[in-house]
Amino acid sequence: MAPETSPSAVLALGAQAAWSLVRRAEALRARAAKGAVAGPLLGHGPVFRVPVGTAGAPTLDAPLALTVDDGPDPDWTPALLDVLASHGVRATFFVVGARARAHPGLLRRVLAEGHHLGNHSLTHRQPFAALAAGALDHEIAHTQRVVADETGVAPVLFRAPAGGWSRSVLAAVRHHGLTPVDWTVDPKDWRRPAVEHIVERVSRAHAGDIILCHDGGGDRSHTVKALDTALTTLRARGARFAPL
Ligand SMILES: [Zn+2]
Repeated sequence: MAPETSPSAVLALGAQAAWSLVRRAEALRARAAKGAVAGPLLGHGPVFRVPVGTAGAPTLDAPLALTVDDGPDPDWTPALLDVLASHGVRATFFVVGARARAHPGLLRRVLAEGHHLGNHSLTHRQPFAALAAGALDHEIAHTQRVVADETGVAPVLFRAPAGGWSRSVLAAVRHHGLTPVDWTVDPKDWRRPAVEHIVERVSRAHAGDIILCHDGGGDRSHTVKALDTALTTLRARGARFAPL
């Protein structure tokens, strides 16, 4: 599909680039404070790090949160679930509603193995922030319904495709009672870099970081392999994991 070039799409892509700077600032601020940061830089924006305790509490002892986007996928979701089980790591799967509807058994397996499910839109349209209010509502509401119908549990978290936040996306997310969630560690595994690259980026995570990986949208064999190694390294360092 050709990229959209309408004025709203161009604006949305500009905002997406700005959010990537905020994301970087959040990660640097947490490193500088050795994890003891209180609250996000932008109070009205998405969550970038693992929220711990009451508002303003330091996040020094926060666990790591592994998040897995774009599934469920009949090849890669089961493979990733096996790796997570072998390391005793529970994660948060941000699912695409249309894929969830096609593979409801995988949704149920994710939940049965102790992971959490989040909403990652119905069709993963991009730039997400360029969508009109009605389309945003449709993307969010339908995925809530698919997951609730198939599992009996409605998600409480939402992640915008490609981190495409805007005032209207955030308003739509909050209208549905959901918490917007971003990330601080991104190995860009969707581009299918070398396994070593993903291992190196993920292994660098610190307490409180939210790690972004993918189990859908293409061949995720590198992600599955890399996580097996990176989780061994992080576990050896004493890292704790908890789903969001
Ligand atoms: Zn995605």
